[in-house]
Amino acid sequence: MLALRSTADLLTWRTSLAAGTTIAFVPTMGYLHDGHLSLLREARARAGAGKVVLSIFVNPTQFGPNEDLDRYPRDEAGDFAKAQASGTDVVFCPTTPEELYPSRSTWVTVDDLDQHLCGRSRPGHFRGVCTVVCKLLMLVRPDVSLFGQKDFQQLAILRHMHADLFLPGEIVGMPIVREPDGLALSSRNANLSAAARQQALAISSFLAQVRERFSAGVRDVATLLGDTASALAPGKIDYVEVVDALRLAPVNLIERPALCAVAAFFGGVRLIDNTLLTP
Ligand code: AMP
Repeated sequence: MLALRSTADLLTWRTSLAAGTTIAFVPTMGYLHDGHLSLLREARARAGAGKVVLSIFVNPTQFGPNEDLDRYPRDEAGDFAKAQASGTDVVFCPTTPEELYPSRSTWVTVDDLDQHLCGRSRPGHFRGVCTVVCKLLMLVRPDVSLFGQKDFQQLAILRHMHADLFLPGEIVGMPIVREPDGLALSSRNANLSAAARQQALAISSFLAQVRERFSAGVRDVATLLGDTASALAPGKIDYVEVVDALRLAPVNLIERPALCAVAAFFGGVRLIDNTLLTP
């Protein structure tokens, strides 16, 4: 596995590839877990005899001033071992943010879809995500890029950006990977105390209850959600919403594919999770 630490090295490597070499790309912020590895394994399968590229970059521009940039977990040696075992050919891990941000004056924004869910509670977050993913797609020029549906809004926004800017390759969404007890895998889980981790199971239990009610025929969102404060206690709710799966705007009645999305703090750690509800 080759480690590239500058954009110059990445571009040199990319240019040296024979025309027609398939590239499958997985962008991450590192501290790899089985969710990331599921993306890498799918990338390996899709790349065939070509190359799997992983990027590891804790992107500062997608963190707000009071968010957890400094506390974001990192483990480069562990990540390299996992990436190699999952069939990664190249890991791009820029040494400084300046590698990807020669200046901080060019930005990519996707209107509308960022007005909802995480976009409302994290102003500027998706601008940071879109900008860095756009840069990475231009550098790597992959045939396929893989993203997790755990970050459902991110995936929806990136699909729009990708189509509107004619960015290279195909975008593929991958299912949420969970712990056996239901907790959605996240690098941020490493920041949970044992007690907070236990309490955080309330999120996946709540989503399971919502799915059960939905399967039983409930379509009215208020009935579907029930008493969210007690369902997620002692978590501090950022939002619990049912939104249209395409437009991400809230709905009161489910008539088309919808998403039930949760963001809540447990022990000061912000966790997100979701489930699709398809009538
Ligand atoms: P991150 O490192 O958190 O920015 O995530 C990198 C990629 O992995 C994103 O496309 C995420 O949606 C995806 N991802 C994170 N957690 C999971 C999970 N539990 N299951 C599937 N994909 C995930």
